[in-house]
Amino acid sequence: MSKSEQFASDNYSGICPQAWAAMAEANRSDEPAYGEDIWTQRASDGLRALFDTDCDVYFVFNGTAANSLALASIGQSFHSVICHEMAHIENDECGGPEYASNGAKLLLGHGPDGKLTPASIEQLVTKRSDIHFPKPKALSLTQSTELGTVYTPEELRAIRTVADRHKLSIHMDGARFANAVAALDVHPSEITWKVGVDVLCFSGTKNGLALGEAVVFFNRKLAEDFEWRCKQAGQLASKMRFISAPWCGLLADNVWLDNARHANACAKRLADGLVGLPGIELRHPRQVNGVFVELPELVQTALRAKGWRFYNFIGGCSRLVCSWSTTDAQVDKFLSDLRALVL
Ligand SMILES: *Cc1c(COP(=O)(O)O)cnc(C)c1O
Repeated sequence: MSKSEQFASDNYSGICPQAWAAMAEANRSDEPAYGEDIWTQRASDGLRALFDTDCDVYFVFNGTAANSLALASIGQSFHSVICHEMAHIENDECGGPEYASNGAKLLLGHGPDGKLTPASIEQLVTKRSDIHFPKPKALSLTQSTELGTVYTPEELRAIRTVADRHKLSIHMDGARFANAVAALDVHPSEITWKVGVDVLCFSGTKNGLALGEAVVFFNRKLAEDFEWRCKQAGQLASKMRFISAPWCGLLADNVWLDNARHANACAKRLADGLVGLPGIELRHPRQVNGVFVELPELVQTALRAKGWRFYNFIGGCSRLVCSWSTTDAQVDKFLSDLRALVL
């Protein structure tokens, strides 16, 4: 597949040069296994410096494992986790969170543009308090959301107030956390521990790594024995340095943020080019690196026939996702192909 013909997902992208170089660097010498190496130490310290707090950091292979194991560490099998009905943990993890927690139930909340509202959380958490219903223990927020929107610091604070009232821990699915930081132009701490996020699953994969997600516990009590949970779940990499060294490549000189800014800017260029075209409507505000757009069936078919790849399975419209490797030329080519079809 040509690199220039897809807006399918940010995980279609390759490995960014800085991560690739760090991987090569880590390959120059032998190092202790299972995370006892210098790269894992450096990446963990780098994340502590980035968040400006003494958090506990673990690296796992993918986002499903990060979310599932982080949620399992928050509660017991008889607990429940409140998330948005569009959440990846509900729709795209094959029951991973329930499996890892031995049965904790997900309770589905609502809100426009993929964002849980305080009212929806309040409604779910107060619906039942009897012993026959799994006790709400945690909230899971996706930042940025599955629909390409962001929770502002104010929105997160309002959610934290409800969470405090009901003693709920907060998990953040940060598959596109970098894109949210870039879009909001905030310090990473301002949308995590400073607004009471207990654990963040910070994705490297969608930001420019081959694989590897950081599970960052701001509430270090929740991290007790987490390394055993990871090992049992098959998530302890023996050659851990090949996950952590590329993370060092992302963290140095804020490459992770540049990658996210670039992806967001490409999506803005794409969204700006779509606005005003006949029969074409943005479904959600474009805030990060995804554009959610209503395209007529025939137009979709014609674009696909020209070789463009994109998905329709999230949010009931076409989802166009940009990454660190998207180019302006690719965006412009898509727009000119589209204009040729609709104008
Ligand atoms: C991509 C993604 C994940 C992680 O998916 P894996 O395929 O398990 O790595 C988690 N949450 C969201 C919102 C995602 O988009």
